[in-house]
Amino acid sequence: MRCKVCLHPKRSEIERQIAARTMNTVEAAKIIGCSNSTVSRHMRQCVAPNVRDRLQAEAKEFQSVNLLGQLDKSHDVLLQIRDAALSEGRDRVALKAIEVEIKQFELAAKLTGQLNEAPQVNFLLSPEYMQLKQVIIKALEPYPKARQQAARALREVNDESLDQ
Ligand SMILES: [Zn+2]
Repeated sequence: MRCKVCLHPKRSEIERQIAARTMNTVEAAKIIGCSNSTVSRHMRQCVAPNVRDRLQAEAKEFQSVNLLGQLDKSHDVLLQIRDAALSEGRDRVALKAIEVEIKQFELAAKLTGQLNEAPQVNFLLSPEYMQLKQVIIKALEPYPKARQQAARALREVNDESLDQ
């Protein structure tokens, strides 16, 4: 038997939004003109499990792509801040930017699934991170003080991870 949600013309759009958690069952119930529990029952019983899984996977992928785009933008801003700070001799600001940059790399790696797919790999011991550290230290060559501080901060990041 088909319920009121099944018969609604916007059924698939509503299902997608609920799966993506951009809409809750209360809001959906209001749109459809039924009770909250009818929507919940529909999601549980009428939407086949495989469809539900696919909708959720799509929603997750969409969200991570979105986040990566945002991350990209914030990385551009960060690079501008870092370069400006370096050229003006504001070592502390530059250093802070580099710390944030490392966090951004970690987040990007998580989002693209590199860390999830290989949980046994410690990011801080990965060749990419080693290379990144070298790039940072090299980039800071003209700024000995910042370079020293960056080297110390990078060491601390490593120590912290070993403590965990
Ligand atoms: Zn239904």
